[in-house]
Amino acid sequence: MTIRHHPRDETLLELAAGSLPPGPALVIRSHLEACEECRRRIAELEVVGGALLEALPPTSLAPESLAEALAAIDREDAPRLPLRPRSAATPPDGDLVLPAALQDCTVGNWRFLGPGMRWSRVALPEAPEANLMLLRIGPGRRLPEHGHVGTEYTQVLRGSFSDWRGCYRAGDLMEADSEIDHHSVVETEGECICLVALEGQLRLRGWVGRLFGPLLGF
Ligand SMILES: [Zn+2]
Repeated sequence: MTIRHHPRDETLLELAAGSLPPGPALVIRSHLEACEECRRRIAELEVVGGALLEALPPTSLAPESLAEALAAIDREDAPRLPLRPRSAATPPDGDLVLPAALQDCTVGNWRFLGPGMRWSRVALPEAPEANLMLLRIGPGRRLPEHGHVGTEYTQVLRGSFSDWRGCYRAGDLMEADSEIDHHSVVETEGECICLVALEGQLRLRGWVGRLFGPLLGF
């Protein structure tokens, strides 16, 4: 698997420090399962982050924030990323193998979203309010055009899609910021299944937006 699109260093640092919200953290962990390069990168960043903290004079940080930062670095589950077998979560379709990061999540059934489009709610036990979902889009379909107030994190699990920045294939991660107003098109050779976490409000346009918005509670 050749992976071309990776999370930003800032995002990996946030994950290592335990400050990335649960939904996005789960998407990034799913990427790390597939991406050796990012597993190496996050280990490097942890070393640099630890050295920076040691170099800081103690007075430059409030005692509680330093303690929090150190606790986050020490916390076993934040920086130590899962390398477990990819089998535990119940997939919403027989042959889709979900990332092991989803193993404690409840994955709902596929629900109609629009022609050739289905979605499934992914519920995290520790953060049931997180906006996390699987999206399944048929070959050649155009995803709803949308903008963001927050950031959207998308890990491609199967197939591929393109937007103006390039093509995203299985294993790739896309981070879309609030400035980006994008629409994505699924490649014609097969359907595309993605794991998507949304932070903040999503602004959807057109009839799909009117359908999609109320379904997801946006
Ligand atoms: Zn990567």
